Amino acid sequence: MVTTEDLPRISPSQMSTWISCSKEWEFGYIQKIKRPGTRRVFEIGGYFHELLHVYYQLLREGQKPGSQFVIDYMDSRLKRSFDEITTENVELVALVTRMVRDYVKFQSPNIDRGIKVLEVEDFLEYQVTLPSGKEVILNGYADLIYRDRQGRLRVRDHKTGAQPKNWHQGKLKLNPQLLFYSAVYWQISGEMALDVEINYVNSYNYKRTPPPIEERFKLLRHQHTEHSIRRYWEYLLEQADRMLNMPPVENYGEHCTACQYNPICDLALRGFPTGDLIRSSYEKITRNYSVQLPTTPTTGTEPSTQETNKESTPTDKSSKQGDNRVPRFVIPSLGSRTGAGIPQN
Ligand code: SF4
Repeated sequence: MVTTEDLPRISPSQMSTWISCSKEWEFGYIQKIKRPGTRRVFEIGGYFHELLHVYYQLLREGQKPGSQFVIDYMDSRLKRSFDEITTENVELVALVTRMVRDYVKFQSPNIDRGIKVLEVEDFLEYQVTLPSGKEVILNGYADLIYRDRQGRLRVRDHKTGAQPKNWHQGKLKLNPQLLFYSAVYWQISGEMALDVEINYVNSYNYKRTPPPIEERFKLLRHQHTEHSIRRYWEYLLEQADRMLNMPPVENYGEHCTACQYNPICDLALRGFPTGDLIRSSYEKITRNYSVQLPTTPTTGTEPSTQETNKESTPTDKSSKQGDNRVPRFVIPSLGSRTGAGIPQN
């Protein structure tokens, strides 16, 4: 009997990668390989995200944006990181500390006054039957779901990056993560979050004078229509069906120069075996996904593995359709909605 644990899980980043190049998706999510040594930028983002999740839990508990209480709380939280400073991460800790302090004191009071935080790092999970009849679970973490002062439901995604020009208004309309969260949240709750936003924080480590504080943050907003969310939902199911039913194929192009799997594709294109290159120059990613391929991959020599997704699955895997949301980062003094009260280190 097929259980929920056996079902394929599809996240927005998987879907985006598959749409961009299904071969890249196969390398990353099926073979689960990556080039070593590409973690630093991710760590800045991950660390900052964690701290923002703590911060927004404080707001959810009724604390005011930018109040002395939240400033002091976040400062004490940051100081705990100082115990773990090493020569390797000292710059990273200093940078993220500055980002968080500026965010709490400047940006949040500007953009969060009067909001009602509903969910922080909400694990959205929805089991659905695709047009082909296959069952899948769509899942992902929405950073923040809240109501603004006018009562409008909004979905926010936090982004960090060292190139502010990469984030501009034109990117929001078809941002796949925000569409995914809006559509899945609608299926779970029955309410459409038409208002979506990117909360960008510049993580460039300026050695000299940084730009003025207001230029280090951006809140980009877009308002979807009901029709666009409904159409995206149909599109999502159609794409999920293709992902599960079509063998991955290379999407050769200029974008390949920026792809970490370019050496593999290059070698395969020239007719050489790729197994030795994969073994010597790539390492295994520790996440697991249960997406199954219709055929054995042709590029590379690693067999497809088909395991249950543990990466973004909360502790209670027996429940389904949104009733098992467990935040990963929980402030210890307030506990979690499930009563778990997981202390953070
Ligand atoms: S190098 Fe190009 S074809 Fe190969 S996986 Fe990357 S994007 Fe796809």
